[in-house]
Amino acid sequence: MTHCLIAILLLSLAGSLLADSAAIDPGDQHTGIRNDTTGDAVSPSDQTVAAGSATYAPIQGQETEIPLANAVAAAAGLAEPLDLLGTKVLPGTSQRLSWSATELFEGVPVSTPVLVVNGSMPGPTLCLTAAVHGDELNGIEIVRRVMYGLTPTKVSGAVIGVPIVNVQGFRRGSRYLPDRRDLNRYFPGNPHGSAAARIAHSFFTNVIAKCDALVDVHTGSFERTNLPQIRADLRNPDAVTLTAGFGSMVILHSTPTAGTLRYAATQAGIPSVTLEAGGPSQLELNEVKVGVKGIQTLINTLGMVKKIRLWGDPEPVYYRSSWVRANNGGILLADVSLGSTVRKGDLLGTITDPMSNARSELRSPYSGRIIGMARNQVVMPGFAAFHVGIQTDEPPIDVADDGTLSKESGDSDDYIDGMSE
Ligand SMILES: [Zn+2]
Repeated sequence: MTHCLIAILLLSLAGSLLADSAAIDPGDQHTGIRNDTTGDAVSPSDQTVAAGSATYAPIQGQETEIPLANAVAAAAGLAEPLDLLGTKVLPGTSQRLSWSATELFEGVPVSTPVLVVNGSMPGPTLCLTAAVHGDELNGIEIVRRVMYGLTPTKVSGAVIGVPIVNVQGFRRGSRYLPDRRDLNRYFPGNPHGSAAARIAHSFFTNVIAKCDALVDVHTGSFERTNLPQIRADLRNPDAVTLTAGFGSMVILHSTPTAGTLRYAATQAGIPSVTLEAGGPSQLELNEVKVGVKGIQTLINTLGMVKKIRLWGDPEPVYYRSSWVRANNGGILLADVSLGSTVRKGDLLGTITDPMSNARSELRSPYSGRIIGMARNQVVMPGFAAFHVGIQTDEPPIDVADDGTLSKESGDSDDYIDGMSE
């Protein structure tokens, strides 16, 4: 299944990157989905060093014929019903299903909407997930807009969208499950494990296992916000292929932390990336729009929809990034904004002790771009305040020609800080 997807991806990318730039079809803004229903930062200790292989090669628009992608799709036969959560979703239709992961203490099932658009034409199944952390609101709106912008009769393949994976956290405005566990550390789960492991297992086996590719949407955590960006393990050729489909969006190499949905899906052979956009607990329209545009561009470059406008030149790929941490406690005020370009030694922000009035400066140890940062707040020493994407001329060369994942050292701080997705 995956190989088929990758073949389609490659052909589609080659074809459609240079394709027309037709405007968005207004007709695509409405669908028949019944009943309306409604991402954090990397870096090991203080330095994410990319373990890249030389496999990354952005696919440039070369003169290739678009119909190739169509030919591949056509050769795959007729579209088939999508069997999901005990329901057969017929080709050319959309439906709102419901996934029940667990029960509340009273024995009442907690159900989560699962939106499905099964296209009239055959193709891959793309999955979009959001709010695995319940306080990450931007992704909910991103998935909603993408799903309700699709017209089933114009889609090749299927799109499965789960706007709120962690519905229990969402209801409480919390990143976590009610037992304080981070759901995104328990995938692929265990049917006999903790509550988190069981929920993860149910979601993974009932929904994720149906996907040919996955985009998991997150925001920064704990009052940090992220420039909209794609995080992927750029040692993995399938993930690289996916990242090339998002158009003009920053790409950051990031080894997935074990237990994350991205990690588990990749291990299961499902190419996966994380889309980070903005910060938690707020709905940020600009970040939402960028996220929607990126996913729509991906759907287009996958050859699953036509007529959506393609999006600009690729942004730089950051193979390395580094967090600048507070050395003193106090009130953090930023001197840069998200997306700023900085040079080594530039002032990023100041921290002032409200009692002694002592003031310290945070300066960038690298030239690069601010791809994530803390909102102005009171911080303790050690707080990760600014995330600098470091542009390097070429991907570092070591490791994994076969694209296999290996856990890197130094990820433990992320894991604890909740800075990785
Ligand atoms: Zn998250």
